[in-house]
Amino acid sequence: MIKKGNTNQSRRDFLKGSLVAGGAGLALGVAGCAPKVAETPVAESPASSPSFMTKPAVIKEGDVKETLSADIVVVGAGVCGLMAAYTAAKAGAKTILLEKSEKFNARGGHNAALRSKIQLEEGLDYDPARVVAELTKWANNNVDVGQEMAWAVNHSAIMDELIDMAKESGLEVMRWGNDVPDLFYPEYKTVHMFGGMDQNILAGMLEGAAKKAGAEFYYSTPAEQLVKDDSGRVTGVIAKDAEGAYKKFTAAKAVILCTGDYGNNPEMIQYYCPRAAQVDANVYAPPVNTGDGQKMGLWIGAAMQKQEPHTPMVHNLGAAPFSGNPFLRVNIEGKRYENEDVPIPLMANSAQLQPGHKTWTIYDSTFADDLPKMGTSFSRTNMMSDFTTMGMEGAIESGSLIKVDTLDELATKIGVPADALKATIERYNELVGKGVDEDFGKNGEMMTAIDTAPFYAAYNSLALLVVLGGLDVNSKFQVLDPDHKVIPGLYAAGNTAGNFFANDYPVIVPGLSHSRAWTTGRLAALEAIK
Ligand SMILES: Cc1cc2nc3c(=O)[nH]c(=O)nc-3n(C[C@H](O)[C@H](O)[C@H](O)COP(=O)(O)OP(=O)(O)OC[C@H]3O[C@@H](n4cnc5c(N)ncnc54)[C@H](O)[C@@H]3O)c2cc1C
Repeated sequence: MIKKGNTNQSRRDFLKGSLVAGGAGLALGVAGCAPKVAETPVAESPASSPSFMTKPAVIKEGDVKETLSADIVVVGAGVCGLMAAYTAAKAGAKTILLEKSEKFNARGGHNAALRSKIQLEEGLDYDPARVVAELTKWANNNVDVGQEMAWAVNHSAIMDELIDMAKESGLEVMRWGNDVPDLFYPEYKTVHMFGGMDQNILAGMLEGAAKKAGAEFYYSTPAEQLVKDDSGRVTGVIAKDAEGAYKKFTAAKAVILCTGDYGNNPEMIQYYCPRAAQVDANVYAPPVNTGDGQKMGLWIGAAMQKQEPHTPMVHNLGAAPFSGNPFLRVNIEGKRYENEDVPIPLMANSAQLQPGHKTWTIYDSTFADDLPKMGTSFSRTNMMSDFTTMGMEGAIESGSLIKVDTLDELATKIGVPADALKATIERYNELVGKGVDEDFGKNGEMMTAIDTAPFYAAYNSLALLVVLGGLDVNSKFQVLDPDHKVIPGLYAAGNTAGNFFANDYPVIVPGLSHSRAWTTGRLAALEAIK
């Protein structure tokens, strides 16, 4: 029998016997529409071990229709795999890239750097070691600092190369961000966007460069199993082509797994990161990130990263304007529950602790004057623009932003007890008068009274982007077994690799996830061709 809403299930509970059913758990689409908590169907019947760990029957040689050979086989054409293929091919290695979809995949558009040539021209020159120290603090030291330093010292030169490539293609590289390194949660002005907020443009550029360098691309060819020889070395991978025939791709030097994360594999989510299921939507599309690289690694004896639970990247994406601002936030009991002056991943944490995971950001008609008091940060708006006005109109239409004339109406519309909401607002206004947040310790300068109609409630929609947890790798991106021994011939990079993030996605370096993907794709390829 299927049980609904396994929101508090821990990994231990899972091991005790629950098994997540199929792929129906997470809603797909853009967050921010009707407030609705995702429910993950869970089978009540006990299971001895999660099915994703069960090694499938080995594909027999006789079932393989064709064998193709290369030095390097890259699996997955996200920005990580595209960079790995480009790097290997450019260095002269015979390179094959296998991709499950009909084309490469990309989303978002922010790419971080600390000291690109554009930043240096702007007078920004962030110290990589200082930033790594901040990232490590954010992760409670539960990461491989060597891997983070490898990113920090190598990515800027790669960014410069991408900037030059973009220039040659006539693409503009845009900059965005907040330069506030001295905040409690520091933030660095790191974002570079290639031709606009669309990572497909950068991915297309990398695909072109990889093909020009000689890499062969096999789209609609999902890899299914790794091949190992008697010595324990990974020597290739078997994939299924568009006609359903098995093809074997041998790798004289290495297979590099760049298949992304497992955010669309409910069973793996329940096992490694149950919190990632407590969201309104999963916005990774198409849902190709089913943990294939991690699974293929596990089946041939690789280990997953030791740090658990894995790190969910949950943002209030597509949400109503100002829901990331530190205005008053309330839960479904109409109660305030936090110091609202936190970055969005941390805002998601406290929201997930609230009943039903539903929360609202409340403000009044003076919001435009209040915005500049909110400070600058990744998720905050500190001034009005045509874009913001349009966003508010759209959000009111979609129901993620409520606008009414009385607090009673507001309470009714968002389904919270009116008395409790009014008492919370009365207390909040009292604290605004005092200029001191005696209840939650927020900076008094960010507190603004809620006393002038119309009143607004913005739904804090929680969207899962990716889950950051992967195979155990060392700082050279070689995949390790449970005894911490290198599995020869196998590398993992980007979101397929572990040990880079812990606790939460650190938005102090916006665009880090993409930057980490293409940097580690490059470093893994360089190591593999040695
Ligand atoms: C809506 C959204 C917006 C985002 N915006 C940003 C942003 O602005 N900045 C940022 O830094 N991060 C952002 N992220 C996160 C970021 O997109 C990822 O962390 C990053 O793309 C990871 O890159 P990757 O190459 O490791 O994996 P992916 O981009 O996930 O690529 C993996 C590829 O492997 C392929 N694949 C999977 N299994 C197989 C198989 N068996 N055989 C062959 N191929 C396979 C997939 O089809 C896919 O093409 C965003 C995420 C989402 C969902």
